[in-house]
Amino acid sequence: MSIAYLPATNRESEHIILRGATLIDGNGGDPITDSEIEVRDGRIVYVGSRPDEGTTSAREGNDAGDTSPRVIQLQGKTIMPGFIDSHVHFGLTVENPAANLARFASERIVRSVVNARNTLMAGVTTARDLGGTDRGIRDSIEQGLILGPRIHLAISPLSPTGGHTDFTMPNGMPTMPPMPVDPIIDTDDDVRRTIRTLVRSGADVIKVCTTGGVSSPTDTPDDIGVPEEHVRLIVEETAKRAGQPVAAHAQGPEGIKAAIRGGVRSVEHGYGIDDEGIELMLEHGTFRVPTLSSALRIPDPKNVPGYLYEKKVKWSAIARERVAVAMAAGVKVALGTDAGVCPHGLNLREEMHAVELSLTPMQAIVAGTKNAAELLRLSADVGTLEEGKLADLVVVDFDPLADITALAEPDNVKAVVQGGSLVKDSAGWFGSAAVTSALG
Ligand SMILES: [Zn+2]
Repeated sequence: MSIAYLPATNRESEHIILRGATLIDGNGGDPITDSEIEVRDGRIVYVGSRPDEGTTSAREGNDAGDTSPRVIQLQGKTIMPGFIDSHVHFGLTVENPAANLARFASERIVRSVVNARNTLMAGVTTARDLGGTDRGIRDSIEQGLILGPRIHLAISPLSPTGGHTDFTMPNGMPTMPPMPVDPIIDTDDDVRRTIRTLVRSGADVIKVCTTGGVSSPTDTPDDIGVPEEHVRLIVEETAKRAGQPVAAHAQGPEGIKAAIRGGVRSVEHGYGIDDEGIELMLEHGTFRVPTLSSALRIPDPKNVPGYLYEKKVKWSAIARERVAVAMAAGVKVALGTDAGVCPHGLNLREEMHAVELSLTPMQAIVAGTKNAAELLRLSADVGTLEEGKLADLVVVDFDPLADITALAEPDNVKAVVQGGSLVKDSAGWFGSAAVTSALG
């Protein structure tokens, strides 16, 4: 079973040929120098080495009524697939909970829109929002009303009373604005009803917290959250529907293993994974989304509650050690930042952090493109640059295999094409008049 939902970017797509760039197609093989990519109706109709002159012209305008493609010269540039951030929260700014709570609902929505746009401009053409965002943002992007990545949504991340997503202080007051769907599950009946409500509300993925967390006030990453039997029940429920992937927030070793044994498709964070957990992950083919942009980032203690700062320092050190061990053991890695816990729009810093913790630059690019598409079950349409897939791509003027850190700066991502539609062209390589902007 696969998710039927994949938003088309409802914008105009030009018939274009991108000529002469070095191509990194997302499959992990050697780059192709002097490449050519032809895009028509939003999809890739040719990708590979630049064909001989005669062959090219034979492809140009050979259908009745077809217009000749516009050729864009990209010598000296590098083209990669549009990146996929498997873990964001467009609606969240958790570093200052009090300020977030004081905002008007309308301001939170506007901020989500800005966060989505900045994420796209950083080179992320598809994202998975693992909690706090409802269908309005996703559908507005799909309809072309605003610019942002294609989104898969979890809507509300699930945990038991007192668990990671029970945002209630000991005095009963909330620490966060309410989630779109009540995220608390304590009984089998709660599990079934909540999964059905999430599916009704348009969830593309189910997020479940099998451990406590760093940002929650009354638990720790070592605490067990949703138990293994409930994870299994959730996987059973989704299997009866569209087969929505189940993603587990899991940080301490026991909750990580409960998530894998229960059948989740991905472990999010996974900071404290032990050797048994790594074995289980390899055996089950579970993806791990290490969220290093958040894990390795120690916030200013002035901006966050004391409990959060202390847990962050401790678990950041654990993550640095254990994520590197798991990556070196060869678990499937899909990149995700947990943006919202770290700043939005700096998503490709995750590439740099993955290399810092043992991946090669090429492995990190594959983790942020092909592997993430596989995790989201969107491989038929996105993740690699291959004929038939949607033309989601980014263009830079440096070699990311020689310097992956250059990707971390969003201004270095000069051009972004999403579904064949040019959404960013800050260097004017495509002819800036061609940029379509839903925001005018
Ligand atoms: Zn998260």
